[in-house]
Amino acid sequence: MSVFDHPEFDHHQQIVFGSDQASGLRAIIAIHDTTRGPALGGLRIFPYASDAEALTDVLRLSRGMTYKSALADLPLGGGKAVIIADPRRDKTPELLRAMGRLVDGLGGAYITAEDSGSSEADMRLIAEATEHVGGLPRHGATSGDPSPFTAWGVFCALKSAVRHGLGRNDLTDIRVAVQGVGNVGAHLARYLHAAGARLVLTDVDDPALVRLAEELDAEAVAPAAITDAEVDVFAPCALGAALSEAVVDRLKARVICGAANNQLAAAGIAERLMARGILYTPDYVANAGGVIEIAWQRRDDYRRDAVMEHIEGIGATLDEIFTRAEREGVSPAIVADDLARERFRAVS
Ligand code: NAD
Repeated sequence: MSVFDHPEFDHHQQIVFGSDQASGLRAIIAIHDTTRGPALGGLRIFPYASDAEALTDVLRLSRGMTYKSALADLPLGGGKAVIIADPRRDKTPELLRAMGRLVDGLGGAYITAEDSGSSEADMRLIAEATEHVGGLPRHGATSGDPSPFTAWGVFCALKSAVRHGLGRNDLTDIRVAVQGVGNVGAHLARYLHAAGARLVLTDVDDPALVRLAEELDAEAVAPAAITDAEVDVFAPCALGAALSEAVVDRLKARVICGAANNQLAAAGIAERLMARGILYTPDYVANAGGVIEIAWQRRDDYRRDAVMEHIEGIGATLDEIFTRAEREGVSPAIVADDLARERFRAVS
């Protein structure tokens, strides 16, 4: 398994492979960049088919966190951790405490948090072995769940995208298709409904979908039908890689803005969207609300209104990205990457 020549290596500062025989821990922590501050990024627990697959995932995700934190104006760098294990079967307190010791050994250069496969309860166990844990409730919060904040950020992003892509300053009667009404998608759908948007929803979890559709007077469609919906905006809020060539060619929406990470399934998709006149909102800009809130939880002057205001700044960042993309005739995805690099390289 090559590391320094790995296609996703991108000058990572540090990569730590950790193991613990007693608990069976096999983990990788990747620190991409700490120029702006310690590398914060979630812990993914997943039964990767190979070490190589785990390495590819952690490198890609940790690099993404550097870009996300830079564009969210946070004093944080980018990192990520993975444990090679099945979260339903292999997660034990011993394994999580061993992970805590691995994180602690980095002395605060990496701060962990929830990601897919890891929960708030897991973070509590990790926190028994290290103080370098984000995403735990502090400052009187009842939960460390970042998804309502992520959804608020996506909502602000979507308003900016609608302004630039559709020339509309409000969401009244704008039709939005939400793919995946889990933690983030359901909150987003409620914000959109309250703002007067008309919703088409889908999820593979049918009972949850039906309940939400009734609550919001929305149309519920089968998962395969969502990309054909007659809507103005498509909001991918399920898994990554939602935007394949086939999907892009079918979409009726003129604007894409959602919470899912890594929405572009392959190289060239951003350009394909541009060619079809579809405005793409860079995913890591739109979905930064959760990490913004986690960053505020680390401060002593946490105030909910200040957090919400910071998250609303996502709209202004996107206004800048969309304006520059239009001026330069390139995809907003390219401009976002350039702007992020300007920000994390400027402070060094
Ligand atoms: P979640 O698991 O709560 O919700 C995802 C939903 O998508 C589930 O309800 C699931 O049933 C549904 N789904 C899965 N496959 C589907 C398919 N093929 N078609 C339709 N629905 C499908 O996850 P979440 O926390 O809401 O996160 C959603 C996305 O946003 C993920 O990609 C995640 O990485 C990203 N994200 C989340 C946060 C956060 O704060 N939770 C922050 C940043 C990014």
